Amino acid sequence: MKAEIITIGTEILLGHTVDTNSAWLGKSLSEVGVEVQRVTSISDNADAIIKTLDEILPSTNWVIITGGLGPTKDDITKKVLVKYFNDELIYRPEIFEHIKDLFSRMGRVPNLLNKEQAYFPKKAKVFPNKRGTAQCMLWEYNEVKYISLPGVPFEMEGIVEDYILPRMIKEQDHFIENRYFLVQGIPESDLALKLTNWEAALTETFSLAYLPSPGLVKLRLTCRGRIEDSDSLFKELDSQSIQIREILGKDIFTESLRSLEYVISDLFKKSGQTLATAESFTGGNIAAKITSVPGSSEFFKGSVVAYSNEIKIKELGVDDNEIILNGPVSEIVALQMANGIKSKYEVDWSISTTGYAGPIGGQGVTAGTVWLAIVGPDVSWVKKFSMGSNRERTISKSCLVIFNQLRLLIDK
Ligand code: ATP
Ligand code: MG
Repeated sequence: MKAEIITIGTEILLGHTVDTNSAWLGKSLSEVGVEVQRVTSISDNADAIIKTLDEILPSTNWVIITGGLGPTKDDITKKVLVKYFNDELIYRPEIFEHIKDLFSRMGRVPNLLNKEQAYFPKKAKVFPNKRGTAQCMLWEYNEVKYISLPGVPFEMEGIVEDYILPRMIKEQDHFIENRYFLVQGIPESDLALKLTNWEAALTETFSLAYLPSPGLVKLRLTCRGRIEDSDSLFKELDSQSIQIREILGKDIFTESLRSLEYVISDLFKKSGQTLATAESFTGGNIAAKITSVPGSSEFFKGSVVAYSNEIKIKELGVDDNEIILNGPVSEIVALQMANGIKSKYEVDWSISTTGYAGPIGGQGVTAGTVWLAIVGPDVSWVKKFSMGSNRERTISKSCLVIFNQLRLLIDK
C-alpha cells in the first residue's frame, strides 16, 4: 500500500512551524508496511488544497492530510474538502456532546465557533479525537482513502495510533513485521562490519535498515512475505533475531524502542539501589532525563549542578589544589565529583560530568572535551571523550554515553 501526506498550514511554509507531522507519519506508516511516496506542504488556501488533491499520484491508496481543522477563520480544510467531495455538513449531536465534555473537564463551556465543529460531512466516516475538538474524517473516493486529521501533533498522533494504523494493518494483503535493536556507542559503519556475514546470508524476505541519530543507531529488521506464510515467517524472524542478539550481545540496550533512561530506571527499580548525579556542563540534563521517567523517585535521590569551581569544592568536596593543578575538566575532578555526591547523598551509584560543551573550549582544552565518571558499590569508571564543538550535541551525547555505561556496569 502507498500513501501521500499533505500538511496544510501557512506557518509551515513560513518556517514558523517545523513539519514534524510528516516525519512522525512517515515513520509510523512505514512500520505497518505502508510506503509514503510523497510529502507536500501547502498553505491554508483553497486553490492550493484543491490543486494538490487533483494531482495525487495514480499509485496512491491513502492520502493523509493534517492541519486546518480548527474552529478559527484560517482553518478552511474541512470546508474545502466538503466541497471537493461534493458533500454537505450536517449537525452531529454526539460530536457536540464530546466537545462539551472536553470543555467541561477544563472548566469551560464551548462557544459558537466550537459548536460549528459539531457539523460533520455526511459522506465521511468519523474517527473520534479524544484529545481535541476537531474530529478526523475519512472519505473513500475513486478507491482512494482520504483522511483529514487535526494539525496539533498530539491530537493527530492519538487518532492515527488508535484508528488509522490498525485499519492499515487490517487492509494489508501481505505479511509485514518489524523488529528493532537499539545500540549506543558503536558507529554505524562498525556495526555494519560486525553484521556483514549475517546480513549477506539474509534471504530476500528480510531487509535490515540502519537508522542512525547522534549517539545511537536503531536497527530495523523487516520481514515481508505472503499472508498465508505468516506462521513460518514469524518463526524465521524469531530465529534471525536470535542471531542478531548473538552477534551484538550486550551492545543492544533495548528491543522495545525505549529510551536509555527507561532502561536504566528498570534496572535500578529491580536492584533496589539508589542514584545521584553531580553535573557540571550537562547542567542538570541527566537528572531531568531520569526524572522524566515515571516512578524514578524510587531510586533517584537528587543532583547537584556544580557549574562553578566554587560549588564543586563547596558542595562536592573537590580538592581545590587538583583544580589548580589539572583544571576543572580532568579525570581527577570528575572522579572527586562522583565520589563527593555519592557520600553526600548516601547513594549506591553516582554519575558526574565535567567538560567544555562548546562552542569554545578553555584552559588549553578544546571544545567538546568532556570527562564522565560513574562510581558504584565496588566499581569506578572514568573516561575522556571528544564530542565536537556543538554544545547541544555534546550535552545530549554525553547523557547517552553515561546512561549506556551505567547500564553496562549495573547489568553485569
Ligand atoms: P487547531 O484546532 O489547533 O486550530 P488545526 O487542526 O486547525 O488545529 P492547525 O491550525 O493547522 O491545525 O495547526 C495547529 C497547530 O498545530 C499549529 O500551530 C502547530 O503548532 C501544529 N501543527 C500544525 N501542523 C503541523 C505539522 N505539520 N507539524 C507539526 N506541527 C504542526
Ligand atoms: Mg487551526
